[in-house]
Amino acid sequence: MLAISLPSSLGLAASAPSPSSVGAGLRVARAATPLMTEPSTTAEELGIGCEGDCLVSYDSLPPSVKPGVVTGQALVDLLDYAKATGFAIPAVNCITSSSINYCLEAARANDAPIMIQFSSGGSQFYAGKGLDNTNFRAAIAGAVSGAYHVRQLAKKYGVPVILHTDHCAKKLLPWVDGMLEASEEFFAANGEPLFSSHMLDLSEEPLDENIDVCVEYMERMGKMDMLLEMELGITGGEEDGVDNENANPDDLYTKPEEVWMVQKALQAVPNAKFTIAAAFGNVHGVYAPGNVKLDPKILRNSQEYIAQQLGMAPGSKPCAFVFHGGSGSALEDIREAISYGVIKMNIDTDTQWSYWDGVRAYAEKNAAYLQSQIGNPEGADKPNKKFYDPRMPVRAAEESTVTRLVQCFADLNCVDIF
Ligand SMILES: [Zn+2]
Repeated sequence: MLAISLPSSLGLAASAPSPSSVGAGLRVARAATPLMTEPSTTAEELGIGCEGDCLVSYDSLPPSVKPGVVTGQALVDLLDYAKATGFAIPAVNCITSSSINYCLEAARANDAPIMIQFSSGGSQFYAGKGLDNTNFRAAIAGAVSGAYHVRQLAKKYGVPVILHTDHCAKKLLPWVDGMLEASEEFFAANGEPLFSSHMLDLSEEPLDENIDVCVEYMERMGKMDMLLEMELGITGGEEDGVDNENANPDDLYTKPEEVWMVQKALQAVPNAKFTIAAAFGNVHGVYAPGNVKLDPKILRNSQEYIAQQLGMAPGSKPCAFVFHGGSGSALEDIREAISYGVIKMNIDTDTQWSYWDGVRAYAEKNAAYLQSQIGNPEGADKPNKKFYDPRMPVRAAEESTVTRLVQCFADLNCVDIF
């Protein structure tokens, strides 16, 4: 067995595991060359036939879960494994190839799976703000482009990646429709969808309508083995142009009966796979301590209620829950939520800050070299090219964010998973 190791040039954050331990749990039946210096790391790419559970899998994850984008049954197996062993997977909002790359790097550094997700605004940004977005054409193209970027690189990093999209309110449904078309084409050619999953957020509509729309999409998505994340109750705060800062406080806390209505309706759809973002006081954004009142017991009560309805043993966790608005949450609330079946936590605000903070610190440290193309403290004729090369601040931002994500993975117990 040979471990895939990271080249030292990746410059991992100090808190990350040392390169020698990275990838130790990855099982490869034939010599694999160091990551990224040689393009082939998987069995298919090496063109080697495989027996049983194939040549590349992980020691401790379910055998269906392999490096690269995880879809269908492998995705369900991975989420079930997370629920059973008590960790949640960080779901990080990405807006550029740089954000995707730091996610892959952070997952690799933690020997852990990651979710990479795009919001509609983030998808549009990925395509470039200069591209016309009539009928969400830029947002659709941007998300698809991001998806191919992830597919191209995830296997090279040797990590399992769930490819997902974030909040889709009623008015944004054409954006998801466009991505579903792309997945249907991909499914016809490859037997799996382009994306692992999408989120629909009809939480601002009446509950019946929310459920009806989710069922309709689950039918379409079930045909190509996709997973649906739906939202019940409202996540407070502001994110990506959706402002719930003045939401009715009652709507910030979902009731077990409502979770059951969703579970019942969606599980009746053929090949349904879904997760529920139930509101338990979550808020997007980071606020001063004391302003966010989380009540994770709502999740425990929902599991108990639904287990009863399904005639399952006490202590069963029939639902897979998603934690929105995790940035700035107290660690004990995060861990408690995980113990009640949260398998995914969204991360956006904290990585927005860490990325900016990396640029800020870089500019501050090198200020004297960043004021003009020529001339710095070492001489009036000294060039500053190597300081203002955009790769320098961008890499500083990535390193700062990998460090922040290492913390997120630790908070979510999502460390050394394979
Ligand atoms: Zn959210």
